Amino acid sequence: MVHFSPFVVSFKKRYPWVQLAGHAGSFQAGEDGKLLKRYCECEQQCLQKLMSDTLKPFVPGYYGVVQRDDQEYNLMDDLLADFDSPSIMDCKMGSRTYLEEELVKARERPKLRKDMYEKMVAVDPDAPTPEERARQAVLKPRYMQWRETLSSTATLGFRIEGIKKADGTCNTNFKKTKHREQVMKALDDFVDGNKQILRSYLQRLKELRSGLETSEFFRSHEVVGSSLLFVHDASGQARVWMIDFGKTVPLPPHQTLDHRTPWAEGNREDGYLWGLDNLVEILGAMLSD
Ligand code: ATP
Ligand code: MG
Ligand code: MG
Repeated sequence: MVHFSPFVVSFKKRYPWVQLAGHAGSFQAGEDGKLLKRYCECEQQCLQKLMSDTLKPFVPGYYGVVQRDDQEYNLMDDLLADFDSPSIMDCKMGSRTYLEEELVKARERPKLRKDMYEKMVAVDPDAPTPEERARQAVLKPRYMQWRETLSSTATLGFRIEGIKKADGTCNTNFKKTKHREQVMKALDDFVDGNKQILRSYLQRLKELRSGLETSEFFRSHEVVGSSLLFVHDASGQARVWMIDFGKTVPLPPHQTLDHRTPWAEGNREDGYLWGLDNLVEILGAMLSD
């Protein structure tokens, strides 16, 4: 289970670097506006391929694997480096956040999980079925699928993971932010009602969408658990990048995804573009009222 708490890390004492998701200690400061993220082979493969894909302008620049204190890291651009007191938002894309292979693995030796049952009732006492209640336990695949229905992941194809604003306020409690109106409220608060910033984000998202629709990389990968990182500051600069390719895996040769077709187990569709369409539509609606 991922632990959603924000870590404010002092980088080079130049500015407080902010990590909105993931595990504490996964990141280290690099030189010259670069960042070290704990090595993951899957992510390395993706970042490397992305450097020669049409998506290159939408991902952090990647500089290979480096070693520090007996630990390997992927070296990439720190996307916050060009901003002054940035406001940032991590938005996890897609209609599911586990890989098909994780679901298959969870089913291999089905075990009744009391811990997952307890997490489930803590969030929603009515969630367990009578059978689950009688056993006081749930199966992991069931838990994984239930979890996606709590947030907007299953209904909108994306969810907000965390927001940190320039004024220092930070919120990573969006697990139950599910409905369109709730998402709009969170987005409006993130930009402090600034329509110009919203317009810049919307334009950047549309450019990203065009980039995705023509990308060879995107067509040939199942993209799960990847985020869009939104960054703006008082200068009015507002950008969006794709980050986190720890669960982005290549498809078998000749298989492709359109990233919009609803997921049915086996088709590997991830709902990434469907989620982006919804996000674009929501920002557009916010700008028109
Ligand atoms: P998880 O899989 O739980 O989401 P992770 O360990 O794979 O976490 P990421 O999601 O890649 O980590 O990053 C966690 C956070 O770190 C992001 O939400 C963002 O705040 C920050 N971050 C990651 N990459 C960058 C980057 N290149 N530049 C600036 N900030 C970054
Ligand atoms: Mg992440
Ligand atoms: Mg990750």
